[in-house]
Amino acid sequence: MTANTSVQALRHGFLSRGQRLLIGGEWVEALSGETIEVLDPATGGVLGTVAQGGAEDVGRAVDAARAAFASGPWADMPAAGRASLLNRLADLIEANADEIAIIESIDGGNPINSIRRLDVGLAIGNLRSIAGWSDKIWGDVPMVPASTPGMAYVVREPIGVVAAITPWNAPFLMAVHKIAPALAMGCTVVLKPAELAPFSAIRLGELALEAGFPAGVLNIVTGFGHVAGQALVDHPGVDKISFTGSTRVGRSILAGSAASMKRVTLELGGKSPIIVMADANIDLAAIGIADEIALKSGQYCAAGTRLFANAAIHDALVEGIVKRLRGKRLGAGLDDGCDVGPLISKAQLDRVTALVDEARGDGATVALGGCAAQRDGFFFEPTVLTDVTPAMRVYHEEVFGPVLSVTRFDADADLATIAALANDTDYGLAAKIWTKDLAATHQLARMIRAGSITINGGIHTAGRLPFGGFKQSGLGREGARDGMLAFTELKSVSLAF
Ligand code: NAP
Ligand code: MG
Repeated sequence: MTANTSVQALRHGFLSRGQRLLIGGEWVEALSGETIEVLDPATGGVLGTVAQGGAEDVGRAVDAARAAFASGPWADMPAAGRASLLNRLADLIEANADEIAIIESIDGGNPINSIRRLDVGLAIGNLRSIAGWSDKIWGDVPMVPASTPGMAYVVREPIGVVAAITPWNAPFLMAVHKIAPALAMGCTVVLKPAELAPFSAIRLGELALEAGFPAGVLNIVTGFGHVAGQALVDHPGVDKISFTGSTRVGRSILAGSAASMKRVTLELGGKSPIIVMADANIDLAAIGIADEIALKSGQYCAAGTRLFANAAIHDALVEGIVKRLRGKRLGAGLDDGCDVGPLISKAQLDRVTALVDEARGDGATVALGGCAAQRDGFFFEPTVLTDVTPAMRVYHEEVFGPVLSVTRFDADADLATIAALANDTDYGLAAKIWTKDLAATHQLARMIRAGSITINGGIHTAGRLPFGGFKQSGLGREGARDGMLAFTELKSVSLAF
């Protein structure tokens, strides 16, 4: 089968089939029989449908997850067994990586090469890393004098039934990042993917069944956030919500979880600052900044989108960024040589357009782009706005489009002033620093209130370091050991001899 025929086979097969819910190991229709149309963001046309899960479907899925958690093969399985299932899933994803990348690229619109390398590649690597944690979480035993007639110990237990609610901007990677640590720790899961790009999560469910996860361990309910997502938040049988999405919905999930005191991890939005000092390697900084703005057409939570440039290098840096972005080709995810795909939806395109128009009206200078592309689908031109001030909405609000806001700072500004600019936001997900000055690097890293600080582009450790936000960018961390522990409860046991 050539690459072209496999794309056609997916378009006319998997994507157009009418996908169902995964509940208790079976693919079933929603009880209502209703479906949701899923659009191709590169054309605006209908790709296919998924089942529109409602509150009763969520109830069935939670029951299946509870049953699988409480007894049966999953409850009895040693940690090493869970690790081998997760590794088998990673192997299956690797064996089907091209197909998953095509599905993801068509559904979400992003360039297939970056999906294959970043989303699917990271999912496989991180899944294997997470599998390795399964049997490496230990409890504690406090020291007591030998003469003490008793002892105590602290154990970790799986938290129970986890609702994983994911966004559309990196649907496959987000789904893997949510389900893998929950499963590694022995929890069971109900996954609710975003309605705008649900297909790769469904393919993940198929592969999980093929890998041999017992029935009910992973359930998938597609549907609207305010219906299926809200039903998970309201369901007293859900022990934890692991959510990635907007701060607005995160806030409502946090409030809603209070009723049954659910545990909550929230990975929310960002408006991450980039600081470029006068001594930075301007060429490398320009490339790094431009490439990040182009990645997923700016629909990337940790993207650096608020650039603060030292006045001495401001113009040269902007010129370099503009030059790099000019070389990016817009196109549908599967188009040869395309670098920047469409935005996910018409609503997203309208929002990005409105924010940029407003900034222009308020006095920002458009150094590049500034408008929707003249073609079908939901494309927005890579855009650089300079002279952006705190009076503008684009300075504060997450745009989630390929839009960089640039503000200059005085050539002799001190570090406290620069850090204050970076911290002038309700968000605190990430910050990027470009400088060769070692002392300034570490002082700024300490002063900036954000969960991830990347210096001179950083190194590729995604998923292996704790990830999450300060302030309104979230609650808790995903990734690494902290991400595993977030799916456990602590239990203290003490006994007298
Ligand atoms: P969103 O609108 O908050 O939706 C995220 C998920 O929540 C979707 O599955 C959505 O369902 C569901 N949802 C909506 N209302 C709900 C409710 N009342 N109760 C429960 N679930 C509900 O976010 P998005 O637009 O998909 O994604 C973009 C946002 O995600 C951006 O703010 C971005 O920064 C953030 N994000 C953060 C990270 C991170 O790790 N920090 C990573 C990626 C993205 P439907 O879409 O199906 O309606
Ligand atoms: Mg779609």
